[in-house]
Amino acid sequence: MSLRDRIEGLRARIRKACEASGRDPASIELLPVSKKQPLALIREAAGSGFARFGENYVQEGADKATAALDLQFVLLGPLQRNKAKPALQHFAEIQSLDRPDLAERLRRLAEELDVVRPVWIQVDLWDESTKQGGCSEADLPALLAALGGDARLPLRGLMAIPPPQDAGAFTQLADLRDHLQQDLGQPLRLSMGMSGDLETAIAAGSDQIRIGTAFFGERVYTPR
Ligand SMILES: *Cc1c(COP(=O)(O)O)cnc(C)c1O
Repeated sequence: MSLRDRIEGLRARIRKACEASGRDPASIELLPVSKKQPLALIREAAGSGFARFGENYVQEGADKATAALDLQFVLLGPLQRNKAKPALQHFAEIQSLDRPDLAERLRRLAEELDVVRPVWIQVDLWDESTKQGGCSEADLPALLAALGGDARLPLRGLMAIPPPQDAGAFTQLADLRDHLQQDLGQPLRLSMGMSGDLETAIAAGSDQIRIGTAFFGERVYTPR
């Protein structure tokens, strides 16, 4: 199947999911996830109007960002403190902020580098943090305090990888977003939903779906 066909198929899935839940398809952002996909394919997607891509690994994303200065990359994968600097240098946005110490380090480095980088807090309400990272609900206040409303790291929303096939988990995240939005008095977006569960995510109120395999096909490329 060609990239164009996959994108069309995805648009149809998004339309259908939106019809079922009375939402406007234009309100759902489709973020292509290009990890382990070659730059040539990313370039092809750029030709179809996509300018921002999700990446999981700092080095791989940095290499692509360096080779494609006209495109933007968003960090979705776990971020170690010692990779914080290249992450701020090469990524337009960081979606995997999940610990106070990381927030503090990013703040220090953002000032040093004189950059502004929107961040999303990755939450994990199901205690799966050992696998993919994510802040528990109980630890959210400490993380928000560490972020301190820093204008260099504006908070855009919440990102999560809910357990698959668990519609209740998606709803729980939407509730958390609604509450936090009220508490902070600012709009927050919700990034959840991947190739296999975008319908569940849209039904529950996701604003951004992050799509890898259903967009680009199977991941095969090994960067180094
Ligand atoms: C890989 C990945 C995706 C995309 O996954 P697919 O199932 O290929 O759509 C989305 N979000 C994160 C955080 C990922 O690591």
